[in-house]
Amino acid sequence: MRGRNLRGELDTFLAGREQELINFRRDLHMHPELAFAEYRTTQRIAERLTAAGLAPAVLPRGTGLLCDVGSGDGPTVALRADIDALPVPDEKDVPYSSTVPGVCHACGHDVHTAVLLGTSLFLAQQAEAGLLPGRVRLIFQPAEELPGGALEVMASGGISGVDRIFGLHCDPRLDVGRVGLKSGPITSACDKVTIRVSGPGGHTARPHLTADLVFALAKILTELPAALSRRVDPRSSLSLVWGRVEAGSVANAIPDDGVAEGTVRCLDEAAWHAAPDMIKSLLESVAGAYGVEAEMDYTRGVPPVVNDKISVQMLAEAAEGVLGEGASGPTEQSLGGEDFGWYLESIPGAFARLGTREPGTAHLADIHQGTFDVDESAIGTGVRFLAATALTALWEGQRPVAGEALMALKALKADN
Ligand SMILES: [Zn+2]
Ligand SMILES: [Zn+2]
Repeated sequence: MRGRNLRGELDTFLAGREQELINFRRDLHMHPELAFAEYRTTQRIAERLTAAGLAPAVLPRGTGLLCDVGSGDGPTVALRADIDALPVPDEKDVPYSSTVPGVCHACGHDVHTAVLLGTSLFLAQQAEAGLLPGRVRLIFQPAEELPGGALEVMASGGISGVDRIFGLHCDPRLDVGRVGLKSGPITSACDKVTIRVSGPGGHTARPHLTADLVFALAKILTELPAALSRRVDPRSSLSLVWGRVEAGSVANAIPDDGVAEGTVRCLDEAAWHAAPDMIKSLLESVAGAYGVEAEMDYTRGVPPVVNDKISVQMLAEAAEGVLGEGASGPTEQSLGGEDFGWYLESIPGAFARLGTREPGTAHLADIHQGTFDVDESAIGTGVRFLAATALTALWEGQRPVAGEALMALKALKADN
């Protein structure tokens, strides 16, 4: 990479730091904190960054922090780790089990935090040696699981002036030492929709004198997903699926109200933005045809994480440079949600999967399970990968500007 032995530099760095990072992860694992309550976690990170000569700034709510490495010259690349735990009991029998009843780092955010901390320390060394061609914004984000922490970071100016952003997530289906990459959508949007219908009610003998509410509700339940599938680009994979429906209490009385709840999942950002208005207008037209009143309550979850192609190429180049040829491979799109999608609505970037499975293990606890754990050598892999990604993005980031200037010059010459 640019004539430098980055791989060797990272080997040397990790030889002295890997155990410290593993210990740091275990400490967080023993003291997990829920969304927007990550006070101790934030303090631990801030202390370590300060000891390395950096100047972290804790976010206004007191959890999560931002920290810049390097000067303002050149591009700015952000690296994001989420730091919160889950309301899931720890079921593992390990020396570093959670000491907080009912709370556990079951999504691997302790690993993400240790990876970003290690990356920060390495990049701080690079900056000190004058080897950082730009600035790296470290984002230790609170409350990914709520979700909402990404919005808190953005409201605090966390990505202002940032050209490109990267993040990663533990993947227990991928062997340690490997990373999974994908251009385009890698996670999905997931929103909740609640529909309430109401009418005068009456006797089932005389549906024409009232509004046949159960029939109307059934029409809404089947017509909305059907109409959506014809109104939205099928490539967006927007799906409305009902999970709960309730109306009436006896066979011969038409009830005066009913409710249905479901989820809207979507892979495409434009379709996700358009979904609430479209569902509402379809609902009103179907309800109107049967003379019932209908109300909709639409709760936004997170947008899909849609990876930028150039950023994914940077991840691939970084992986090849420091993890070895063939260390990165394609990964599938998940129907789960991830609030990293909020950043990518504003700036380009990419989200990667970090292998955490001990090669050859049969037992596979998924994330969000109380038995989930990782092969801790994933921390070293993550540090190599993220540090190389930041440097690659800074090096590459200097080129488009020159390219644009050249294009402008050519256009000027052509005009004359
Ligand atoms: Zn999670
Ligand atoms: Zn997670």
